[in-house]
Amino acid sequence: MLHRSFVAAGLALSVAIVAAGCQASTAAPTAQDAKQFLDEVDATFDRMYLDASRAGWVAQNFITVDTEAMDARATQAISDASSRFAKQAVRFDNVEIPADQRRQLNLLKVSLVLATPSDPKESEELTNLVSSMRSTYGKGKWCRDAAKPDSCMNIDDITKLLASSRNEKEIRAAWEGWHTISPPIKKDYQRFAELSNKGAKELGFADTGAMWRAKYDMAPDAFTKELDRLWDQVRPLYLQLHAYVRMKLHEKYGDAVPAKGPLPAHLLGNIWAQDWSNIEDLVAPKNADAGYSLTEILKRRKMSAIDMVKAGERFYTSIGFDPLPPTFWERSLFVRPKDREVVCHASAWDIDALNDVRIKMCIDQTAEDFSTIHHELGHNFYQRAYLKQPMIFRDSANDGFHEAIGDTIALSVTPEYLVKIGLLDKAPDASRDIGLLLSRALEKVAFLPFGLLIDQWRWKVFSGEITPAQYNKAWWDLRLKYQGVAPPSPRGDEFFDPGAKYHVPDNTPYTRYFLADILQFQFHRALSKAAGCATPLHRCSIYESKQAGQRLNNVLSMGLSKPWPDALAAMTDSNEMDASAILDYFAPLQKWLQEQTKGQPVGW
Ligand SMILES: [Zn+2]
Repeated sequence: MLHRSFVAAGLALSVAIVAAGCQASTAAPTAQDAKQFLDEVDATFDRMYLDASRAGWVAQNFITVDTEAMDARATQAISDASSRFAKQAVRFDNVEIPADQRRQLNLLKVSLVLATPSDPKESEELTNLVSSMRSTYGKGKWCRDAAKPDSCMNIDDITKLLASSRNEKEIRAAWEGWHTISPPIKKDYQRFAELSNKGAKELGFADTGAMWRAKYDMAPDAFTKELDRLWDQVRPLYLQLHAYVRMKLHEKYGDAVPAKGPLPAHLLGNIWAQDWSNIEDLVAPKNADAGYSLTEILKRRKMSAIDMVKAGERFYTSIGFDPLPPTFWERSLFVRPKDREVVCHASAWDIDALNDVRIKMCIDQTAEDFSTIHHELGHNFYQRAYLKQPMIFRDSANDGFHEAIGDTIALSVTPEYLVKIGLLDKAPDASRDIGLLLSRALEKVAFLPFGLLIDQWRWKVFSGEITPAQYNKAWWDLRLKYQGVAPPSPRGDEFFDPGAKYHVPDNTPYTRYFLADILQFQFHRALSKAAGCATPLHRCSIYESKQAGQRLNNVLSMGLSKPWPDALAAMTDSNEMDASAILDYFAPLQKWLQEQTKGQPVGW
């Protein structure tokens, strides 16, 4: 579900080894200098982006030591350039220049995820720390029996076990086992926070967290308050889902799941309890299936991977977008090759910032992949729409938008849409809605508090509000506060449980996933309205609506050129994020959940 984007989205690694100011003369810089600087940035990124995209594509399609090294080198070049440009942009702070140039300079300054200190030794130490944390996580394994190497499990094995096992003891052992990989990361993380803060301060930010929050076109503290406001809006729905799932799991597991109080973090079908889809069979009511299986239909019709992608393309052309270029069909990867190792995780690519867009997926005949195709193509159509912008603006309005657009389109993959494209004879009636909505809520509503808390923890670590001695306690305090989950056994200071989540050792910001989860429903509601949809929101599809397509294109073509509230207003007529669309979408489910949990405790 990724898209490749180097510029402005920033990169996790960066080494600022180039002496800042090597081009600066003693005279005060002029508007002409600023223009020249931005032209150089544009040309440099244009060239480097092409190199890095090609290297990345080849590396993921032909995994060898050499292609990996070439990919790393090309990516590092962009990181170095981003870091260098961010530092140089400060020179023009007091120069009078046109607003769009000022925005480009500002974006350069907030583009970094990691700012390395100017001291070369510290810069190298910081870069090595991130590599080391990433590699410790990547190599992470838990062995049930230390004497038997084949009893060892990596994160994929653990993920499968958590998804499928219904044996509490076995699940608990695997959960605790996975969390043994991260204590060695703790010391590195502490030093990493120190050094990355130093780099952020040199760029004028209070700390690394403030630097991350500065990307959102508002004061960092105002952004924090925005997130709280959005969470308060959806919290009642989450509480209902939480109460219902607790009741069902208590029936299944007895005292291992308390009748009231927090849910045990290990029994939700996912190692981080961030997506509860895997326990759907334990919590769904009888006869709650959607009334049809798209997976079965695709298999019965022997629909090929290409035909599935063609259907996805038809969705976009039906709302007014140009067909994908011939190179898309020649160069994309649609099926897992038999002769070599590839990275199969679905992703969308924009290789040359001209017209060479592609997807890379190993498509199976499943409903999930059918939706994912619509999602990935959303990235491609976004990339094509903002092509005319300067390099720095070739990204989504904020980092939540790119993922949200793909997911918005996937929300339009409704039974009614499947009828229109001839995959389904008749859409099921409203009596099937609860199954459909519960399934979606276990993924999208369950995720919300998790999407929020990762960066709540990190921001407080960067600001010093959470000290190293409190790392683990603060982590579980936040998980209790937001998710209402508790660990299956005491988690003292000897553990470093945040490090057992990929994005922490990898130093990837996480708030974007929370934003995308909120925004996609807001987008879906606005586009459905533009399409004149009169059914309940969860049954709306914008397929064939030129009006909705026009609205969508207005936002996509803006790229990052305007503050995100402007982009949001172009789609929704409001410049404020609004979680009430989630409540609208899940309204029938929320009512049903209230009935199911009548007389039961709600909250923890
Ligand atoms: Zn995606």
